[in-house]
Amino acid sequence: MAERIALVTGGIGGIGSAICVELAAKGFKVVAGYYPAEKDDAEAWQEKQRAEGNAFEIASGDVSSFESSSDMVKDIEARVGPIDVLINCAGITRDKTFRKMEPDQWKAVIATNLDSLFNVTRQVVDGMTERGWGRIVNISSVNGQRGQFGQTNYSAAKAGAHGFTMALAQEVARKGVTVNTVSPGYIATEMTKAMAEEVREQIIAQVPMSRMGEPDEVAYLVGVLCDDRAAYITGANYELNGGLFMSF
Ligand code: NAD
Repeated sequence: MAERIALVTGGIGGIGSAICVELAAKGFKVVAGYYPAEKDDAEAWQEKQRAEGNAFEIASGDVSSFESSSDMVKDIEARVGPIDVLINCAGITRDKTFRKMEPDQWKAVIATNLDSLFNVTRQVVDGMTERGWGRIVNISSVNGQRGQFGQTNYSAAKAGAHGFTMALAQEVARKGVTVNTVSPGYIATEMTKAMAEEVREQIIAQVPMSRMGEPDEVAYLVGVLCDDRAAYITGANYELNGGLFMSF
């Protein structure tokens, strides 16, 4: 069988990088998507990964734009091949209490974290259904499940991500394509390092495991969902939060 190709959006970020490494270890050819303005960072990341033995491809695309996402996928198809696995991992936060939130902060988070699922997935889903195999994993968040003070924008987008997962999962289930959500709790990446030290300590105090998660713990779960043997798991949300939020 030809080597399967995986696109990880936000692939040079904290969680995205760990997912790239995990998928490569599972035998996928990995392409890391990056935000166009971060070309230099992406090239440096690619070089560092190569030095560590990971021959990843990189591809530029703004996931908040349908056109840019389309160009990114066409570029990958031309240079690397058709995409069998899509990990929608790109995301941002623009935290503000609702009464102080500006339209730009609302729109940026919805566009990057939710519109992106349409913008990128729409480009690859026909190929997956035609070939009869595909894996789509959307990275949501515990804060989409429970809501978070100061994050009406982010909580709405991340909750929306799972609605998207459940609906699309039904549409493509008969074609060998699974669609699932992974909802991490607080994971040690640049996104959470940006928080004030005291906020971070308050959060850790609420986590039964008394620590943040590691990117490779998220990556492990994503890898499982992309396995051939995960074929019967679809429309599901997997939470991974050190016990911070439990649901059934
Ligand atoms: P990160 O900031 O390290 O990585 C995010 C990546 O997305 C960056 O590389 C960034 O350049 C990219 N990106 C942002 N906007 C983009 C755009 N418009 N087009 C293309 N790429 C864009 O953050 P992370 O912590 O690795 O987060 C990865 C995902 O996990 C996000 O969706 C985030 O919401 C989610 N998440 C993170 C945590 C956490 O605690 N770190 C918890 C739950 C969920």
